[in-house]
Amino acid sequence: MTYDVAIVGGGVWGSAAAQEAVRAGAKSVLLIEKNIGLAHESSAKSGGILTDLLWHPEDQGLVSRSRALYRDASELAGDASVVRPLGQLTLAEGEYVDQLHRREADLRVRGVRFEMLDKDEIRRRYPNLDRLRDGTSGMWTPDDWVVNPTAFSQVVVNRARENGLVLRAGCRVERIEVEERRVVLEAGGERFEAARVLISAGTWSRKLVRTAGFDIALRPYRVQLSSLQLAQAHELPIVWHLSTDVYMVPEGPENILAGDGTRLWEHDPDDYQQTGDDEFQMNIAERLLDLSSLGDRAGLRSSWAGLGGATPDRRPLLGPLADRLFTACGDNGIGVMRGPAVGELAARVALGLSEAPHLRPDRFPYTDFEIRPGFTLE
Ligand SMILES: Cc1cc2nc3c(=O)[nH]c(=O)nc-3n(C[C@H](O)[C@H](O)[C@H](O)COP(=O)(O)OP(=O)(O)OC[C@H]3O[C@@H](n4cnc5c(N)ncnc54)[C@H](O)[C@@H]3O)c2cc1C
Repeated sequence: MTYDVAIVGGGVWGSAAAQEAVRAGAKSVLLIEKNIGLAHESSAKSGGILTDLLWHPEDQGLVSRSRALYRDASELAGDASVVRPLGQLTLAEGEYVDQLHRREADLRVRGVRFEMLDKDEIRRRYPNLDRLRDGTSGMWTPDDWVVNPTAFSQVVVNRARENGLVLRAGCRVERIEVEERRVVLEAGGERFEAARVLISAGTWSRKLVRTAGFDIALRPYRVQLSSLQLAQAHELPIVWHLSTDVYMVPEGPENILAGDGTRLWEHDPDDYQQTGDDEFQMNIAERLLDLSSLGDRAGLRSSWAGLGGATPDRRPLLGPLADRLFTACGDNGIGVMRGPAVGELAARVALGLSEAPHLRPDRFPYTDFEIRPGFTLE
């Protein structure tokens, strides 16, 4: 059988693409995922922050659309874990205070709710932040969320399967061959054929498209997160400390996730250290101690590393590599908050229903460009 569309990679991007391909009326849609479960790679390792504070206007739009899609999935499943509306407190000191203030006008124009807080007000609202330095300012954005991309992916793929999506999990695509009238995918001794193929395989995408003779400007880099056990219950929102680039995400009443840890050099997605390194764990412990006495008796539950995919301009690579072969990758470490919208757009581009020529994956030649983090204010 020749599928209308095959999507390779069932992370949050590919799952959203599968949902949209079915919804847009493609006759037969195949989703192939190498793991047994959906969204078990970078998507599962993320902190799940969804914020309006992104620096690129188009990314801000993608966050808004993703917000709606996460909300729909949450309502569809009646699963409150898909969306946790916790709000975010962005802390700044010194030169970073100006950076924060420079965002105010933009947020007002966009109608994003926010409040500027001084150190005393932050302390009053969040007594756990009892070690802030003098001169610390904060921006409170109440509509920022923590989302669960794995739960989202399961919900939307289950719904799409009810409407005809074929899911092949535990099936790793090894080679792609683009022919005149179809694309052939070789996976574990099997062959799948499709009129169009979308590669949304996260940081594996470059390796995969190279088997078909294409190359893309995607460089995987390592991102770490740790899960901390506190000695008491906390009352924290999402906290992003601009000066140290450390962020904390409430995980439960006595747990938080804490990360900074981008390692800005290229890593092989099939061969990298998946546990957090000692330097990272030490740094996180020290940064927590700087902000809160909760750190005095905190214990490390676990720490891990996943990968982000850097691109030269920190925007996605999305669109055609050939007539029948498409890709959507290049998350730049902020792919959960934009994932549902990017996946939706990628499916529409692959089906010829939308255009995004400025994101074309061949807009850069592959070179050893500098890897820069995507989760920044400017
Ligand atoms: C520690 C950490 C914290 C993060 N925190 C945040 C955050 O707070 N907010 C945010 O927005 N982003 C965050 N990110 C980034 C975010 O996780 C990614 O941008 C996002 O998950 C990308 O989704 P994806 O679907 O493109 O990739 P993935 O989730 O990696 O999905 C790709 C899928 O393709 C599959 N695949 C690969 N090769 C093949 C093959 N050959 N055949 C079949 N299937 C294949 C993989 O198994 C995988 O399931 C974080 C990342 C990390 C590592």
